[in-house]
Amino acid sequence: MTLKFFNTLTKKKEIFKPIEKGKVKMYNCGPTVYNYPHIGNYRTYIFADLIKRVLKFKGFEVLQVMNITDVDDKTIRDSQKQNKPLKEFTEFYTKGFMQDLDKLNIDKAEIFPKATETIKEMVEIIKILLNKSYAYKTDDGIYFSVKKFKSYGKLSGVDLKNLKAGASNRVGADEYDKENVSDFALWKFYTKEDGDVFWNTELGKGRPGWHIECSAMAMKMLGKTLDIHTGAIDNLFPHHENEIAQSEAVNDVKFVNYWLHAEYLLVDGKKMSKSLGNFYRLKEIEDKGYTALELRYLFLTTHYKQKLNFTLKNLNSAKNTLERLKNIVLELKDDDKENKKYLKEFEKAIDDDLNIPNALQVLWKLVRDKNAEGKYKTIKEMDKVFGLDLFKQEKIKIPNEIQKLVEEREKARENKDWKKSDELRDKINKLGYSLEDRKEGAIIKKDVT
Ligand code: AMP
Ligand code: ZN
Repeated sequence: MTLKFFNTLTKKKEIFKPIEKGKVKMYNCGPTVYNYPHIGNYRTYIFADLIKRVLKFKGFEVLQVMNITDVDDKTIRDSQKQNKPLKEFTEFYTKGFMQDLDKLNIDKAEIFPKATETIKEMVEIIKILLNKSYAYKTDDGIYFSVKKFKSYGKLSGVDLKNLKAGASNRVGADEYDKENVSDFALWKFYTKEDGDVFWNTELGKGRPGWHIECSAMAMKMLGKTLDIHTGAIDNLFPHHENEIAQSEAVNDVKFVNYWLHAEYLLVDGKKMSKSLGNFYRLKEIEDKGYTALELRYLFLTTHYKQKLNFTLKNLNSAKNTLERLKNIVLELKDDDKENKKYLKEFEKAIDDDLNIPNALQVLWKLVRDKNAEGKYKTIKEMDKVFGLDLFKQEKIKIPNEIQKLVEEREKARENKDWKKSDELRDKINKLGYSLEDRKEGAIIKKDVT
């Protein structure tokens, strides 16, 4: 069976062929450590984790690199607001990020390079770009000339005709949009706003632009050509387009064979983002009584190329579904067999551009199949990809019987059958469990005696 990925570069589903047989070099754009990530960011990192797990399931050895952006416009701005040295400020959020990865069962990358530890390599790249006339110096920095790179736009489809004429043809900021196709900053000369954040280099006193950071870290850790590079779709332009331009202009070889981009997590139809203020952090989700793995389950139910609208109601139903699944799984006996038929079906789903939602359906089909053999070992195999810790014993286990009653009661409530709903609540209470009704559905708790 062959693994296929949708490649943003070619706009096609393609058979995955690594450069070196059996080995995969993957780079994931990682967090900018200026704040706590929101759960939308985590959707993107779970996506990267699923790629890695699928590749490993298929027998590949994976070298995964996820960068830590610890110097850019945002980290400098916010460390100053908090009156903290940049390093102390970014290390605090990096630590928090690593703890969240553990909670979400995101397999750690083999290497987490930091931008501030890759400055030497960035300077070398910029020097070559200057020598090859892809870059030019101005009074405020060194810029990449997008016109010079003939295939600029090949990833995102932006048109160089939109390039602004004249001096405004440049952008110094790290983030900008499609309407502003521009020459972008590789190196920003020091201004007093940068405070104590600068490097004295051959290029002059200053700091790198965001885009060159990823090119430098990717090349340093993985070489000139990578198998896979990922991010969310907002990274497509300008970030990834610029990464291609810089890297290919320096090395004269293809930078990345497979580009994969994940869709957004939405709230009320809008992208979850810090700027809109419509975000949840993992901690807030936990404070509401949900676990990181319940959130993970919710993310697994939607294909990465589809937008996912986040609601507490969805999360609540993911919680209930995952609890049911765990209860079923924990009662399975190991018959020392594997179910080849179901494993094959599962593999077919994950092979098809990471169709995890379908793979979950295969799991449920197996769970419900009364005659299937080898459930225990087969589900254990599948969970290597899902990463849901299905076989881990929990402290409090809600029995199936209670869950069924709760579901019945939810139905009664939907039908506004309050009498039946109250009767069912009494029954649940008598069995030693209590319910807390919320907008998004009921939360079940075991009474402490
Ligand atoms: P940042 O730390 O701001 O660089 O963002 C980290 C990653 O999360 C980037 O790859 C973003 O594209 C991605 N991201 C930001 N907002 C969302 C969202 N609402 N849904 C999914 N991914 C997102
Ligand atoms: Zn990046």
